[in-house]
Amino acid sequence: MMEQKVDIAVVGAGPVGLAAALAAAAAGYETCLVGPAAERRDGRTAALMVPAVELLRSFGIWPALASTAGALRSLRIVDDTGSLFRPPPVTFRAAEIGLEAFGWNVENAALVEALAAELQRQAVPWRTSLVADYEVDEEARLRLADGTVLRARLVIAADGRRSRIREAAGIAARQHRYPQAAFTTLLRHERPHGDVSTEFHRRAGPFTLVPLPGLRSSLVWVTQPRHAERLLAASDAELAAAVESGSHSILGRVEPDGPRGLVPLAAISVASMTGPRLALAGEAGHVLPPIGAQGLNLGMADVAELGRLLREAGGADPGAAPLLARYGRARETEVRLRSLGVDGLNRSLLAGFAPLDAVRGLGLGLLGGIGPLRRAAMRAGFAGRSPFSRPEPRGEARRS
Ligand SMILES: Cc1cc2nc3c(=O)[nH]c(=O)nc-3n(C[C@H](O)[C@H](O)[C@H](O)COP(=O)(O)OP(=O)(O)OC[C@H]3O[C@@H](n4cnc5c(N)ncnc54)[C@H](O)[C@@H]3O)c2cc1C
Repeated sequence: MMEQKVDIAVVGAGPVGLAAALAAAAAGYETCLVGPAAERRDGRTAALMVPAVELLRSFGIWPALASTAGALRSLRIVDDTGSLFRPPPVTFRAAEIGLEAFGWNVENAALVEALAAELQRQAVPWRTSLVADYEVDEEARLRLADGTVLRARLVIAADGRRSRIREAAGIAARQHRYPQAAFTTLLRHERPHGDVSTEFHRRAGPFTLVPLPGLRSSLVWVTQPRHAERLLAASDAELAAAVESGSHSILGRVEPDGPRGLVPLAAISVASMTGPRLALAGEAGHVLPPIGAQGLNLGMADVAELGRLLREAGGADPGAAPLLARYGRARETEVRLRSLGVDGLNRSLLAGFAPLDAVRGLGLGLLGGIGPLRRAAMRAGFAGRSPFSRPEPRGEARRS
């Protein structure tokens, strides 16, 4: 049996695992990534907010990715529930809080490719086997499906929502399934999107168009699972007609222009983001419904925090309990707050309950009408910062 010893083993080669491996290596630790290369092509994109873009910039991969990304300069929310308390559409503009854009919409496949290429360029070791088993005492040991045993002082588990490491470590995870699924695809359209992302809040869930460069956008359509399956199986012409109707033709004629995907909607919250010599990152540590573009941004914030703590540790034991305790404290509060917000909004749409409609309508109406409130919400919700922090100077997130 082959044995290998490293400082840090990162499990899972999705976007979060790849980024975590780059951050751990950049902090000067001998790092190994474990997991098969992701092959999913499902038209899924991620709207990455400024802090996540800053992390990618620190890896040196942002300039190339930026040319494939759509800028989100405004976000429009349209209440399309038919509720009596429907407020007028509300538009949030990044310029109002001194930002060039709230974020950039990137195809997941392009992001994963860019991260993987950088990992290979830096010659960070990568074993493309699955992890079969995990145990821990003074050190962590991973048994890989190819028979290798990998010993590490810290394991970063970025092995996704069904994390095997989380389960083997005995960290409890509570799953909530929603009666919804997200249908994803890419579109080409007749009219320019004007760098505006539009979210139609419908009873079955949000229908969101997110800009890509040129006359292209990505679509995340949260709806009943049967309807999502019908969209998946529809001809291009049927799908185009459904999207034009769902979007009230704001982009004119549309044409499907990429792979399609379907993800059942679930939320997962974990009892702890850490264990002995273990840190959970990305969907291994939190799953949110795809509303308000929070999921991968939270995953990238996990990585940024781990990177910061590892750099501060300056070569000392990366799996030391105080370091992990700081990571847990820093991440668990933010994850909980954002999960509550996303879950609350989704449930209020599903409920079809007049008092909840009134509260949602009033909230959106207040955000639309009261500048300071709207700006505080934008800083908290989209810029990934405290609502009370001072605005960043314009142009900080400019593409380089
Ligand atoms: C429809 C939709 C739209 C979304 N839009 C946005 C958005 O706009 N903005 C945003 O921030 N987020 C968004 N998200 C969330 C985002 O897509 C996820 O947070 C992100 O993809 C999770 O990445 P991850 O690396 O944590 O997990 P994954 O991508 O699931 O990667 C996990 C990896 O672990 C590997 N693995 C699993 N088990 C093992 C094992 N035993 N050994 C080794 N490897 C293993 C898998 O092969 C996989 O490659 C969206 C999600 C959905 C569903």
